[in-house]
Amino acid sequence: MTDDVRAVAVWRDGSAVRVPADEPVVTAFDTGLARGDGVFESVLVVGGRTPYLADHLARLHRSAALLDLPEVGDDVWGALVAAATDGWPADVEGACRLFLTRGLGEGAAPTCLALLAPVPAETLRQRTAGIAVVALTLGVAADVRAVSPWLLGGAKTLSYAVNMAAGRYAHSVGADDVVFTSVEGRLLEGPTSTVVWASGGTLHTPPLDTGILAGTTQARLFTCAAPDGWATAVTPGTVADLHAADAVWLLSGIRGAAPVTSLDGIARGDAGLTSRVQELLAR
Ligand code: PLP
Repeated sequence: MTDDVRAVAVWRDGSAVRVPADEPVVTAFDTGLARGDGVFESVLVVGGRTPYLADHLARLHRSAALLDLPEVGDDVWGALVAAATDGWPADVEGACRLFLTRGLGEGAAPTCLALLAPVPAETLRQRTAGIAVVALTLGVAADVRAVSPWLLGGAKTLSYAVNMAAGRYAHSVGADDVVFTSVEGRLLEGPTSTVVWASGGTLHTPPLDTGILAGTTQARLFTCAAPDGWATAVTPGTVADLHAADAVWLLSGIRGAAPVTSLDGIARGDAGLTSRVQELLAR
């Protein structure tokens, strides 16, 4: 169907320019390419619109500040998103990726891009079919990133090679995705998602002071869940808590809520809660 539909917009000479999707827009000397020295966001496009853009821009600004990247205003990002989504088919969910890099380096103009492509069919499938997950260590202590700003805890940086490698490792052992744990066995996050579990009527998620990313989807779910009768809690859980939970999901803006159907090879259910969670997220 639409896998060939893609769009690119680049900030050039003070305005957002839509360019053909296969046109080169970044110099080979861009430090985002050489060193992963930049930040990004993945914004859901639904009905041709980006209803959660503001949450992602707030996090993009926080990430940029953590990397001492130049401040780029919401007007720039808004213009890039508008240029990329212009004419996007309303019936195709899209993933709009915003990239901010240090460009040619310290003191140079930053590179600002918006890329738009359909949400992959496999991602859409996982919302209903669920995912098999393995727990893998990230090799960091749960409290180290809170006191080590150079580790960039909480920043969504372009340095995702470890996250992608974890995903490939999961696939090599027959799983779909990963839950990272700290060296003490504390729950952290997925390589591209936030962990949420339901237990006795309470929705739980791990604390941000472990250095995980503040998930916009988890925040939205918790905001909607309270008036719907759920208690919500920030909980320093372990893999054992996930095994004991009524349901476990990996959440992200593009994926929504994917129910975990097996953890470390042990099948698990969702107590029929996934439709309620997905309904809350769709509000
Ligand atoms: N944690 C990581 C490492 C991620 O890459 C993502 C996805 O962007 C998330 C959590 C979930 O964040 P969000 O719900 O804002 O997409």
